[in-house]
Amino acid sequence: MNLPRNSEELLAQRYRFLEFGVCDVCGKTVEWWMTPKHKQIPINVMYSPKSPAESHWEENCFLKAKLKAKQNDRKESVAA
Ligand SMILES: [Zn+2]
Repeated sequence: MNLPRNSEELLAQRYRFLEFGVCDVCGKTVEWWMTPKHKQIPINVMYSPKSPAESHWEENCFLKAKLKAKQNDRKESVAA
């Protein structure tokens, strides 16, 4: 995924800020943005218009979330 470099560019490229949220995996605050293609993406908090925009998934939380979901699946199949 090619992200614009900062929030100024996000806005210029018609990304839209939605809300602040907390990552389920690491507990960090993230900013949820809507891409021009209407996909919601978490971005690390940007403190100024020039702060670099970094996808929060790049901290491997997505991977961990997937693993967690797998473990939960397993638990459920054991319980069933
Ligand atoms: Zn995270």
